[in-house]
Amino acid sequence: MLYERSSRLFAEAEKVIPGGVNSPVRAFRAVGGTPVFVKEAKGAYLIDEDGNRLIDYINSWGPMILGHAYEPVVNAVTERARKGTSFGMPTALETEIAALAVAMVPGIDKIRFVNSGTEACMSAIRLARGYTGREKIIKFAGCYHGHSDSFLIQAGSGAVTFGSPNSPGVTQGTAKDTLLAKYNDLDNVKQLFEANPNEIAAIIIEPVAGNMGCVPPAGGFLQGLRDLCDSNGALLIFDEVMTGFRLARGGAQELYNITADIVAFGKVIGGGLPVGAFAARAKIMDYLAPVGPVYQAGTLSGNPLAMAAGLEMLKALNADDAVYTRLEEKTAYLETGIRAKLDAAGVVYTINRVGSMISVHFDAAPVTDFATAAKGDNETFRKFFHGLLREGVYIAPSAYETWFITDALTYEDLDFTIEAVGRVSADL
Ligand code: PMP
Repeated sequence: MLYERSSRLFAEAEKVIPGGVNSPVRAFRAVGGTPVFVKEAKGAYLIDEDGNRLIDYINSWGPMILGHAYEPVVNAVTERARKGTSFGMPTALETEIAALAVAMVPGIDKIRFVNSGTEACMSAIRLARGYTGREKIIKFAGCYHGHSDSFLIQAGSGAVTFGSPNSPGVTQGTAKDTLLAKYNDLDNVKQLFEANPNEIAAIIIEPVAGNMGCVPPAGGFLQGLRDLCDSNGALLIFDEVMTGFRLARGGAQELYNITADIVAFGKVIGGGLPVGAFAARAKIMDYLAPVGPVYQAGTLSGNPLAMAAGLEMLKALNADDAVYTRLEEKTAYLETGIRAKLDAAGVVYTINRVGSMISVHFDAAPVTDFATAAKGDNETFRKFFHGLLREGVYIAPSAYETWFITDALTYEDLDFTIEAVGRVSADL
């Protein structure tokens, strides 16, 4: 495949946009080479600027769960656009999507819409701090909750106790209020509660981690966090930006039958437009301005185009009793096929999967947290990525990402992908 036009467009972009991209992982730094510039997309396929057709396993990092340019969403957005694109005043549409989200997700009475997953998580911890009157939060190494200051804290021995910024620009003052724990390690979380009595406002977690590849919660882990929060007067925040409306109608809460106190959403809830949201029981949500003291706002929050897209997406998922079964079956089929090819080629790997989230780690040991995820062989991943790209299969350009399966994929697409994996693995 040729990437002549993409290369040219990237060179142009680099002159006026830092790194040529508006979000770092798009730049292919981890895998090398030229980022693919997209021209258009439909269903399971991307068409790039050089005219190549790629089967898409990223799907805008999750939102396009029913495929690109999904007709009901496109129609709703087009129709709405003709009536005005932003008012900064309430619309009936906002109540409609809020009511539907509240009906689909367990344990929430009210929801507020924002413009990104970052904003949703940032607002969720502010609300938790305001509600509990405490300042510290626990986050897990390898979990990503957006680029707000409190979350850009890296793992490391000293950082485990006090937090230390892993991005310049994050102050020590902010970092010290983020306590780091190891994913799937309840004892670690318990120790943090013991060392910081009555100081921890909340635990924030990706109930299925998707930002160190896919890492499922070990049996009893989420329940253990629920119990620790309850016995210590802290709130449990599920960051369901990836898992929400993807793993089930009610997300990971429904799948694992655990109720969080605050839930953050993004991706699918916006149907591909910039939307995030956070939700909780009324007694917590009513701490928000204008009823309560915790301030949170947004000029474009609840934007009519974004709400129209999100509403059509949620309606489609809510109306289709079989969609989550189909996604599960397609992804399981892909997993079985990929395993067979990698086994046949003698490649050392671990595959983690929950529903339609799946990732391939090039290491034999189980991947259960950030330390084990980081052991994957990056060079093998790089070859795997570029091999698949040459075959017309687009996966995330980093080993620390999950693949997002879309219902638009056919079994022919999956077979094509599995065969491509077979050819690529022969060279790994
Ligand atoms: N939380 C999780 C779990 C995410 O995966 C992401 C983005 N990948 C975010 C939060 C941040 O969302 P956004 O990029 O929309 O700000």
